Amino acid sequence: MLNIILFGPPGSGKGTQSDLIIEKFGLTHISTGNILREEVKNETELGLLAKDIMSRGELVSDEIMIGMIKNKLQELGDVKGVIFDGFPRTKPQAEALDNLLKEYNTEISVLISLEVPEDELMIRLLNRAKLEGRSDDNEDTIKNRIQEYKNKTAAVADYYEEKGKLKTIHGVGSIDEIFTQISEILS
Ligand code: ADP
Repeated sequence: MLNIILFGPPGSGKGTQSDLIIEKFGLTHISTGNILREEVKNETELGLLAKDIMSRGELVSDEIMIGMIKNKLQELGDVKGVIFDGFPRTKPQAEALDNLLKEYNTEISVLISLEVPEDELMIRLLNRAKLEGRSDDNEDTIKNRIQEYKNKTAAVADYYEEKGKLKTIHGVGSIDEIFTQISEILS
C-alpha cells in the first residue's frame, strides 16, 4: 500500500493537492477536517462538541481524533492506499496512527510537507473566506490555527523525519508545479 500523510499549515494547499493525487494514484482520501465539518453540519454529538473548538481554531482532542481514524480504517476494505489530510496533527496522533496501521500490516510510506510562508497563508485563507465562507477562515481564528500548527503540529514532521520518511516541498507556485513535485516523489 501507498500511504501518504499530506502535511503543512492551514492554507498550504493540502486539500487541492489531495484531489489531484487521488485522481492520479487511485488513493483513498481521509480528511479529518472534512469529516468534522460533516459532523458539524449534521449536528451530531461529535459535531456539537467540535463546533466551538473549530471556530476558535483550536485542535479537537487526540482521543476523539484517534477514535475517528480507527473507525475510518475499519470501514476501508481493500484499497490501494490512503492519503491522510489533516491527520496526524500532534505527536500522540502520529504514534497512534503508526500503531493502528501495524494492525493492518501496513505503514506510512512518506510524509510530504508543503512549506508556505506565513504571510502567504494569511492571504490565501482570507481569500478563501470570501469564496467559500468557511466559518474558521477569519483573521483571529486563522492566527490561532497557525499558532496551533507551530506549537503542536510541526513536531509531527520531526517525528517522521527521524524515521527517514519526511519529504519537503516548496508550496508556493502554480498548482501544477507543486503537483509535479509531489508526483515525482510518489512515482
Ligand atoms: P486547515 O485548513 O486549518 O488545515 P482542516 O480542514 O484540516 O483545516 O481542519 C479544520 C479544523 O478541524 C482544525 O482547525 C481543527 O479544529 C479540527 N481538526 C481537523 N483535524 C484535526 C486533528 N487531526 N486533530 C485535531 N483537530 C483537528
